[in-house]
Amino acid sequence: MSKRCFIILGLILFVFQGAAQGDESLFTPKLLTTPLIKKAFAFLEQSREEIIANWIYLAEIPSPSGQEGKRAAYMEKIFKELGLSQVGLDKSGNVQGVWPGQKTGKKILVTAHLDTVFQGVKSIRVKREGNLLKAPGIGDDTASLINLIWTIKALQNAGFKPKHNYYFLATVGEEIGFVGMKAYLAELPRKFDLVLALDGDLGKVHYGALGFGGGRVVYRGPGAHTMQSRGIPNPAVAVAKTITRLYQIDCPAQPLEKWTILNVGMIGGGKVTNAVPQEAYFTIDLRSASQKELMRIQNEIEQICRQVAYEENVFLELNLRKDSPAYQLPGARNSFLVKTLVDILEYLKIKDIEVDPLGSTEANVGLAYGLLSVNLGRTYGRFKHSLREEAEIDGLFLAMKQIILLLASLEKAPLTD
Ligand SMILES: [Zn+2]
Repeated sequence: MSKRCFIILGLILFVFQGAAQGDESLFTPKLLTTPLIKKAFAFLEQSREEIIANWIYLAEIPSPSGQEGKRAAYMEKIFKELGLSQVGLDKSGNVQGVWPGQKTGKKILVTAHLDTVFQGVKSIRVKREGNLLKAPGIGDDTASLINLIWTIKALQNAGFKPKHNYYFLATVGEEIGFVGMKAYLAELPRKFDLVLALDGDLGKVHYGALGFGGGRVVYRGPGAHTMQSRGIPNPAVAVAKTITRLYQIDCPAQPLEKWTILNVGMIGGGKVTNAVPQEAYFTIDLRSASQKELMRIQNEIEQICRQVAYEENVFLELNLRKDSPAYQLPGARNSFLVKTLVDILEYLKIKDIEVDPLGSTEANVGLAYGLLSVNLGRTYGRFKHSLREEAEIDGLFLAMKQIILLLASLEKAPLTD
């Protein structure tokens, strides 16, 4: 064969290999017949009551954002008992534990958050009713911490020797803007290949980051008694006019990669009926899968507000958040990671599978660094972020099986060079 033929053949092989590695799901149902998976699943079933007891125990340790210390100490103790390496707390209070694989294995970050939204709740008692556990924080994200602990235990028990290197991280401050995760990835000299965020409802797969761009609009004027109000600038009128115009802005529902929504949720101002208010305000909740759309709409909001302030002769105070951009990785939907996860969910007959680029989990932080990132749901639940939060016990076991099958499938992912 001539040298040229070799080069062409090599190129064809290279392209073929690239396509196979990049786009194919790594899951095959055959995996279920391997001793590894059989043993791991049997371990979960045998440990059922112990897992539920552990879940209740952890949920009863209050852990509001900023005060995660007790839960962090518990996770540190568990990571040590599991024999993970490099166990410890970082400056932010995140707890790390590493399950090393081969030197050339991928570096995979797996996170679950320690904090809950329940500031001031000092004592938590979990209620068990049939297939349900009820307590604030029982699902979000305590269930994921339990999934993390028991997935590791099940895999260890089944003799799993990972090819890739797993960095497990129990994070602080997720609910107040991914604080712990942001600090961890910013400080870290090594670069991860994949990020798996254990968070959200089972069956929801988010492979992109939803951006937030809303804020508060305030108009101010001199005010006046109703009797003297003719021709006096009225901030309430400016608010009404602005809201009407904001709802003329085009917020695309399709394609999903451009999905955007705008909502005016709060409105207020004035103190008495018989005067022109000196101040009136409203809030905007703006969310988009696309950073371009987010910025375009923020621009339109600013123009409309300025124009109305000019027309109504009032002062404008406008604050739109710029701290939570949208991120999308091209090709993420068709990546081996997302395809593998969706195949696993379908195989496990998970109800209501939703795959979209609208994530709002710690996977967002990975995406911001250009890392292929996805979330894995924890169980089915209701009333998240409320005192009557509920989570399903059976769903938790499905979620652990999902994680185990994903990690076992990822063994087929090539080593890094
Ligand atoms: Zn959460």
